[in-house]
Amino acid sequence: MDGIKVNALMLRAVDYGENDKILTLLSAELGKISAGIKGVKKAGAKLRFAAQPFCFAEYVLTKRGERYTVTQASETESFYDIRTDINKFYAASAVCEGANSLTFGGAEDERLFTLAVQALSNICNSDESYALIKFFLAALSVSGYTVGLDNCSECGAPLLSAQRMRFDMSVGAFTCWDCGTGVGASGTTYNILRMCSGKTYDPAFITPDGAKRALRLLREYLSYKTDSRCVSLSEYIRLI
Ligand SMILES: [Zn+2]
Repeated sequence: MDGIKVNALMLRAVDYGENDKILTLLSAELGKISAGIKGVKKAGAKLRFAAQPFCFAEYVLTKRGERYTVTQASETESFYDIRTDINKFYAASAVCEGANSLTFGGAEDERLFTLAVQALSNICNSDESYALIKFFLAALSVSGYTVGLDNCSECGAPLLSAQRMRFDMSVGAFTCWDCGTGVGASGTTYNILRMCSGKTYDPAFITPDGAKRALRLLREYLSYKTDSRCVSLSEYIRLI
């Protein structure tokens, strides 16, 4: 029987029985799927790598009823540097966690697959905190939760030079401090988010703690929209 080939990123692995695991795969062809994989907890198992975090591979699956089983896999990219740097490791874990909580089984899943793979590559090769912010901005947008980074969503006043403002979680946009009732946010958070989305920004607001501030806001927003506990993202924020 011919297998079904998918290009997929391994998001999550849960133990199943003595030696097996159930994988959550985000694939380009089928979106997010669950697939069993046999014997991977045994020492020397040929497919052990395919059940490791951040594995990006071509998986060969068989389907019986509604259940997929991995029968073969060949690694496309190992993202080796992620495994040797604790900050990069948790940033990459936050990408997989975020991709898992923002995929709902629609056509958007394929775009999230591309964004997640790009993010892991950027985390390997560049500053991981900005790579993570870029990923969350794009992934939230694809999932229908765009972070509005324009003028005040109430009165239309520019916010580029404001020291403090608010972020309205239900609308997903910033307002002047006096215009809204959302959570407080700094000019640094706003300008870092604008910088990471390729918009104009005020360099005077780009401070060393800026990425941390911006990620805290993105975490609040993500858990507000998806009920995700953001365990890896929280750990990453704690580390930096
Ligand atoms: Zn306003």
